[in-house]
Amino acid sequence: MKIIANRDVCVGAGNCAFTAPELFDQDENDGTVLVIKEVPDPGEEESAREAVAFCPSGALTIDE
Ligand code: SF4
Repeated sequence: MKIIANRDVCVGAGNCAFTAPELFDQDENDGTVLVIKEVPDPGEEESAREAVAFCPSGALTIDE
């Protein structure tokens, strides 16, 4: 699994960093997503999927 973030459509809502802080952070200037860990450990894959599902802008996708 690999997380792909499109920062051009991210609205900086922060749901991803709230849902999976081990995988996502936000840019301190504009709030857009920063992927801390593009390839989650097996135990982190479920929270990665939740974060993608909760993103309101569709900025996050998962490449299986
Ligand atoms: S949840 Fe989506 S819109 Fe919000 S910061 Fe994360 S990637 Fe951006």
